[in-house]
Amino acid sequence: MKHFNNTSFVCSLFCVIAIVLQSSVVTAEFRAGAAKQDITPAMGVSLDGSISKPGPSKSVHDLLHARALVLEDGSTRVAIVICDLCMMGQDVVDDAKKLIHQQTEIPISNILIAATHTHAAPRAIHIGTEPIDDEYHRLLSVYIAKAVSKANSHLTPARIGFTSFEKTGLIACRRSLCKPGSVGPNVFGETGEQVKSVAGKSSAVIGPAGPTDPQFSVLSVQTLDGEPICVLGNFSVHYCGGYQRGAVSADYFGYFSEAIESNLHQKRKSSTSPEVIGILSNGTSGNTGAFQRSAGQKFAAFEGMLFYGRMLADNALQATQQTAYSTSPLCK
Ligand SMILES: [Zn+2]
Repeated sequence: MKHFNNTSFVCSLFCVIAIVLQSSVVTAEFRAGAAKQDITPAMGVSLDGSISKPGPSKSVHDLLHARALVLEDGSTRVAIVICDLCMMGQDVVDDAKKLIHQQTEIPISNILIAATHTHAAPRAIHIGTEPIDDEYHRLLSVYIAKAVSKANSHLTPARIGFTSFEKTGLIACRRSLCKPGSVGPNVFGETGEQVKSVAGKSSAVIGPAGPTDPQFSVLSVQTLDGEPICVLGNFSVHYCGGYQRGAVSADYFGYFSEAIESNLHQKRKSSTSPEVIGILSNGTSGNTGAFQRSAGQKFAAFEGMLFYGRMLADNALQATQQTAYSTSPLCK
């Protein structure tokens, strides 16, 4: 296997959408709608922070959102929601799905909810948190459902397409294959392992422990006359970082989305059209660290995420110009 290909994620997503949509008799036109909802926490809610630097939120550098895309073939609907959070607990996801189902009648089995994994955001899991965190987790489900309800209300006849391109030079494996005997016991006390995360420049390092996935996948949805509705990207970089402690940020995921939205906003034909939504989901990034920077490349706080987010948005928008669209999504 050369790569665990991230196109496979979007292809799989596309196929799941197609299979779900085809599971019913297709008698009506394909429709799509998208929307976003602010999910920025109140000050004092616990942030994940960079490694070993958790703590309460003290300021907001940029807002966190839940961004939703709803697709329908006339009788079956699916929803995808990507949230600017570090992690999400099963209870938050389950509560959100119940609310979405109550408000839109989208079947719970047709709803996909995921976190981007920005570290400058809460871990929405009920482990060792304060009452203010519990309250935020409860509200999250409500806000996530709101995003989907809004997207659902924006459903309009549409066409869909997907494409991908390779973005090499930005990703490095952060898990290192090390010399025998150089890696300590794992969390279970077991010995003999040769792979270590974030091993740095240790002389025990032999090389990367595995491949990385440089593929950037793009799913694009437009109205029948080409007005943009949503661009959903997927990329496999863990996060960018470069935060200030206590500051909330959606990281490069947020900047990617904002760049897509501001660029495509100008292409709307009417000021009353629903807002255009950009979404970036996290791919096969478990073994990757932050962006691999070129020699001598330095950024002030929050500037790296802006640089990479906007660059990837430009690349994704260029890719969509070559995309073939269909009003009848089929798994080929
Ligand atoms: Zn992480």
